[in-house]
Amino acid sequence: MPVPFNDLYAQYRSLQGEIDAAIAAVIRESAFIRGHFVETFEAEFAQVLGVPHCISCANGTDALYIAIKALGLQAGEEVITTAHTWISTAETISQAGGRVVFCDTEPGRFTLDPQGIEARIGDRTRGIIVVHLYGQPADMDAILAIARKHNLWVIEDCAQAHLATYKGKPVGTLGDISTFSFYPGKNLGAMGDAGAIVTQNCELAQWMALFARHGGKGQHQIEGINSRMDGLQAAILSVKLPHLPQWNQARRQIAQWYQDHLAEIPQLQLPQVRPDVEPVYHLYVVQVQEGDRDRLRQQLQQEGIATGIHYPIPLHEQPAYAYLGMAPESLPVAHQSARRILSLPIYPEMTGEQVEWVSTALHKYLKSS
Ligand SMILES: *Cc1c(COP(=O)(O)O)cnc(C)c1O
Repeated sequence: MPVPFNDLYAQYRSLQGEIDAAIAAVIRESAFIRGHFVETFEAEFAQVLGVPHCISCANGTDALYIAIKALGLQAGEEVITTAHTWISTAETISQAGGRVVFCDTEPGRFTLDPQGIEARIGDRTRGIIVVHLYGQPADMDAILAIARKHNLWVIEDCAQAHLATYKGKPVGTLGDISTFSFYPGKNLGAMGDAGAIVTQNCELAQWMALFARHGGKGQHQIEGINSRMDGLQAAILSVKLPHLPQWNQARRQIAQWYQDHLAEIPQLQLPQVRPDVEPVYHLYVVQVQEGDRDRLRQQLQQEGIATGIHYPIPLHEQPAYAYLGMAPESLPVAHQSARRILSLPIYPEMTGEQVEWVSTALHKYLKSS
């Protein structure tokens, strides 16, 4: 039984009639750029999160860049973030003229470790970018307390955590500005690139809407950029959004099945969930002994089971950040984790039988090691 890593076509098929109709409606109205499909989705997404402002944009990377610019980062000012993330989180700090300061992650949880933050705060530190990686909320109370104490802003990168909750509140409602990606494989995925920014702050929202659209139409108040969600993506996202809670629930069910099947394999460390959070399992990431991981991946591949590594090299060890001169072990948790992590297949349409198949293969190969 082949088990793909994700199955986007299965999701399309489950909503084919509605998605096709939405696409046809956009074409009929030639509402390709801006227009009511985009405005409708912005209003719906803001409502689902319970925030007053949502600004759509071209992708989750632009969302981060726009948010950092909105918070007024000046050349040479520093932003603290994690090295265990997709590069968008860090590269946008540099693009905005800032300096990236990497901080380590919590062992077994993969999110920013509040204990490492204060030692990295200096005169030029302005903000913190938190990533709710794999759909697991970060330790927001501790991080927000540090930010308040040192007068820093906080951006939540929610690209992997649509509707995950922290102490009953959706992530994306806790920091100053939060960013989302609707890349096709994300928990809420478009059929191309798309992103959004949310905030409770009216002034920031107005500035970001202006900045993302050339600084205004007719009269340009500021120089901006061109970052917009197109009408086709907005219409597709509006069809999918009502299904997001049940898709997230299906992911939690799959995670529970994995937990039931895999808990007694000693060589496997399963995802640790913080108390008081509801994760959304964008990825289901286990850890295996260093050295065993790549062999296990190949064995699973031979059984037709696709896996991934998110991410194989932490950012501080990437050529792009060699200029920081950081030793690999200077972030020991990120460094170790990258060698141990393995992302198992998880997507809402995955069946219990498929989970069992993956689990049986893991038993077989880890018992014999
Ligand atoms: C996907 C992702 C992004 C970037 O989103 P794009 O829409 O691909 O630009 C940013 N941060 C994280 C953590 C992501 O997973």
